[in-house]
Amino acid sequence: MMSYLSSCLNAKMVVVNLIKEIGKISRLEISGLTGIKASSLTGLVAELLNEGIVRECAKNEIPKPEKISKGRRPTLLQINPQIGTIIGVHIDHTSVRSANMDFQGNIKNYIKKEFSLPLSQSEIIAKSLESTKEIMCADSKSQNNQITGIGVGVVGVVSSQEGKVFSFPKVEKWQEVSLKEIFTSELHLPVIVEKATDAAALGEKWLGAIQNINNALYVHLGEGISLGIIIDGKLYRGISGNAGELGHITVVENGPMCYCGNYGCLERLASAEAILSNVLDGLQNGVRPNILDKADGKLENVNMDVVIQALEEEDRFVYNIMQNACKHIGLAVANAVNIFNPEIIIIGGGIIEKSNTCMSFIRDIIKTKTLLSSQKNLKIVGSCLDKKAPLIGAGSLVVDFTLNRLTER
Ligand SMILES: [Zn+2]
Repeated sequence: MMSYLSSCLNAKMVVVNLIKEIGKISRLEISGLTGIKASSLTGLVAELLNEGIVRECAKNEIPKPEKISKGRRPTLLQINPQIGTIIGVHIDHTSVRSANMDFQGNIKNYIKKEFSLPLSQSEIIAKSLESTKEIMCADSKSQNNQITGIGVGVVGVVSSQEGKVFSFPKVEKWQEVSLKEIFTSELHLPVIVEKATDAAALGEKWLGAIQNINNALYVHLGEGISLGIIIDGKLYRGISGNAGELGHITVVENGPMCYCGNYGCLERLASAEAILSNVLDGLQNGVRPNILDKADGKLENVNMDVVIQALEEEDRFVYNIMQNACKHIGLAVANAVNIFNPEIIIIGGGIIEKSNTCMSFIRDIIKTKTLLSSQKNLKIVGSCLDKKAPLIGAGSLVVDFTLNRLTER
């Protein structure tokens, strides 16, 4: 907490960032956590109230204390949700999801547009822009709808610093593109671009399972496998933004070739695509489990939904494939636990959201392969925000940007 605070520039910014991080907090707690004297804090908070950046919680918004105390409960401060509207967008290779939210992350409107593949790079960008424009107009008639910025979480290889997307899954001829520049020139608002898994970790930090926790790992399991890393309350991106590429650690030396150019990457062995490919190979080679009954007897109808359904019904053929994939994932996450010693691991993404069996496979491996001392306080949970985590996290970056701008000297 203190390293986070000491990195902020001025007292007003320190207080606002703390209120955003904690959610609801008393003046006394702010003083205790920041070291700002109560006498100075009174004037500073009055200024923030006057400027409409923070507000006092109504009595019915104050959580009941765990212990019954006789004294009057203190007034709590929170970020004023009516500062404006923020837009959060999540682009992946199957869809674009977008939402408009207030400054406390309450979603007012949500739109999901699915892509029908294959699409070219320019088509994906055009559809994402179109969807963003639609969500920007969705709330135009209500009050306090002034949009302060757009946060975009994107799958693939992304530089948040440059706002560029270097590669995008399932689009082979993707050329490096400055998504930030395109969105800014089309939409005339501040735009922040972030890697989708990092955005999801930030979403969980703001409103989900990582709230008020300083050391956490967010594991995304879907078409890709990646890690969002929160250290000392802040997202860790690495020197070139590539931290958390869990899908590209080598798990089998000389294993199958990965699109990154290496061999035996985790993603080639345990992503949704790899699992489905293993199931289809088995079916083509004459294995005849009940799984085909769920797909009208047709191979082309076998998708991950069918595979997960078969797993949950304990189809032995699918069970073995999934258990093997989850073993690789569990070992990789266990290694990450031994390196980062987090307080919580959130496992999100399409595979986990649909399968309790996968979650328990992975949880068992992590518990077997991590140091006992690292397991002591470790919680392993599913995502609270599910598929909305990346767009909420992208939105939180806009909140940070706007609050910092409003409290600059
Ligand atoms: Zn790879």
